[in-house]
Amino acid sequence: MSRVRIDHAVSSGTFSLDGETFEVDNNVWVIGDDEECVVIDAPHDVDAIMAVVAGRRVKAILCTHAHDDHVRVAPELRERTHAPILLHPADKPLWELTHTDELWDVDLEDEQTLKIAGAALKVLHTPGHAPGAVCVYVHDLGCVFTGDTLFQGGPGATGRSFSDADLIKDSIRARLLSLPEDTVVHTGHGADTTIGAEAAHL
Ligand SMILES: [Zn+2]
Repeated sequence: MSRVRIDHAVSSGTFSLDGETFEVDNNVWVIGDDEECVVIDAPHDVDAIMAVVAGRRVKAILCTHAHDDHVRVAPELRERTHAPILLHPADKPLWELTHTDELWDVDLEDEQTLKIAGAALKVLHTPGHAPGAVCVYVHDLGCVFTGDTLFQGGPGATGRSFSDADLIKDSIRARLLSLPEDTVVHTGHGADTTIGAEAAHL
């Protein structure tokens, strides 16, 4: 059996909310082995994601939250791969701003574990940036995928609708700073960091 690994792409497009639009670069993370994988977030460009999947069976499309720059091509990716879309149900109002005529397939639940290529992906509900924001902790790989909840340099933005600045700080403190310090943080935008490095600024 091949070893579980992380593959990555950056895809460029826009993020719109509250009547404003911004240019953004999003990370796409793919966890798996040579046979199967899980895709974390589906921004902008389905071909860019399929290039990282590279012919493997996609078992799930896991959305860290439903801002349009993270879910825009999720239905198209589902069509191409026949994989279910997973989203925390608290992000329904955000999902509906982007996708009015189709839903995701499976609700994510706090503390739920998904298995891929022998590794356990643990879902942590971390509301604040969005009500249904989740992080995905992979103990076997010593890393956590934080979406827009935690970046290099601090917490994700909470200035727009459906965000809450106090809640994101509580989520980070309770759910992320409790992870081992050397846990690598793979973010939704920009560079990696570690839990220890971010704990120092929080
Ligand atoms: Zn976001």
